[in-house]
Amino acid sequence: MPGFEIFGEEEKKEIADVMDNGFIFRYNFDPVRNGRWKAKEMEALLCEKMGAKHAHLLSSGTAALQTALAAAGVGAGDEVIVPPFTFVASIEAIIMAGAVPVFAEIDETLCLSPEGIEAAITPKTKAVNVVHMCGSMAKLDEIKAICEKHSIVLLEDACQAVGGSYKGQALGSIGDVGCFSFDSVKTITCGEGGAVITNQESIYKNSHMFTDHGHDHVGSDRGAESHPIMGLNFRISELNAALGLAQLRKLDDIIATQRKNKTAIKEAMSSIEEVSFREIPDPEGDSAGFLTFMLSSEERTVEVNKKLAENGVDGCFYWYINNWHYLKNWQHIQNLESPARLPIHLIEDRPDYTKVEVPKSDDIMSRTISMLIKLSWTEEEIAQRIENIKRAFS
Ligand SMILES: *Cc1c(COP(=O)(O)O)cnc(C)c1O
Repeated sequence: MPGFEIFGEEEKKEIADVMDNGFIFRYNFDPVRNGRWKAKEMEALLCEKMGAKHAHLLSSGTAALQTALAAAGVGAGDEVIVPPFTFVASIEAIIMAGAVPVFAEIDETLCLSPEGIEAAITPKTKAVNVVHMCGSMAKLDEIKAICEKHSIVLLEDACQAVGGSYKGQALGSIGDVGCFSFDSVKTITCGEGGAVITNQESIYKNSHMFTDHGHDHVGSDRGAESHPIMGLNFRISELNAALGLAQLRKLDDIIATQRKNKTAIKEAMSSIEEVSFREIPDPEGDSAGFLTFMLSSEERTVEVNKKLAENGVDGCFYWYINNWHYLKNWQHIQNLESPARLPIHLIEDRPDYTKVEVPKSDDIMSRTISMLIKLSWTEEEIAQRIENIKRAFS
C-alpha cells in the first residue's frame, strides 16, 4: 500500500517547484506564486482519476471525514452507522461532530454488511459511514439501495482503498461523499493530507468553506471574501499538495504493481487447504493493498500469526488484537474519554459503548489476518516470501 516506497525525482521536482517558484499557501498570493497551484492541480487530477465532479484537498483523512459529515448535514444528535473494524478516526470524526456512532456488523467483505446496516437503522439514523477496509470494498449496490430507501447519507471512507473501484466506478465516488487519506503510510501520500470527493455541488461548496473558516473562495482578494458558514482550518499546504500530485500521477502504476504482487502470493496460498480469502464484491476493482485471509478458528489464527512472524513473513496484521483497528480494544472510545466534555456526553440515551455486541464481527475478525502488499518487492523476495509462508503453515 505505501507510496513512500517509490519516492523519486518526480516528488522532489514538484516540491522544489513550490520552493523555487511558488508559494506555500494554497489560496491567493497571485503575484508571488508564478502560476503555481499544486492543490488545485491535484484536485483536478483527482476529479479526472476518480470520475468525480468535485474534489477538495485538505489536511488529513480524519479532517476529510469531519468535513464530509458537516458538509452533508450530519451533526448534533444524528446517528451514524459505523463498523467496529476500522481506524479510530472513523469514530472520532462522528463524535467530534456531535453525532452518535452506532456500531453495526461487518461480513466477510470486512466492511459493513447490508443486513448489519438494516438492523442498526432507527428514526435518528442520518448517515452510514461505510469503510472500505484494507484495499477492497463493501457490497455497495445493496448498501446504496438501503441508504436511498431510508434517505440516509452514504459516506464512503476510502482512506485505505485509494485507487480501488466497484463495477467501474472509483471507490469514494459512489455514495454522496467520499473520503481519502494521503497520510505517510497510505497508497499515495502527501506527507499529511486527504481529500473529499463528491458529485454534489452543495457538499463540495460546504467542504471547501468548512476547511477554511467558511471562506467562499470567490474572487482573488482573500480579505474581501465573505463567510457564509463557520468552519475550521483543515487546509493543506502547497508543499504537501506538491508531493501528493507527483504521487497521484503514479497511482495507476502503484495499483498495477500491488495487483501483480498480490496475485503471486494469493495463487501460492490457494493451495493451503485451511485458508479462505476475504470476500471481494468486485475482484477487478480490488486496489490490492492487502492480502486478507481467514482460518477456521481463533486458536489456529493466533498460532499461524505467530508462525508467520517466526518465519520472517513481516507486514502481517492480526487486527482482532490490534489496538487501533477494532472496537474491542478501544477502551478510550468505549468510555468516551476526552479532556473536555463533549456533545455526546450530554446525550442521555446514547449507546453504552462498553457493552456493544457484534458477535458476527468478532467471529470474523478473530480468524482474520491481513498481509501488507509492498511495491518494492523483487521477484526473488516474493518467491522467498511464498516459501516462508508455506513453512509457517506446515
Ligand atoms: C488512515 C485512515 C483514516 C485517517 O486518515 P489520516 O490521514 O491519517 O487522518 C481514516 N480512516 C481510515 C479507514 C484510515 O485508514
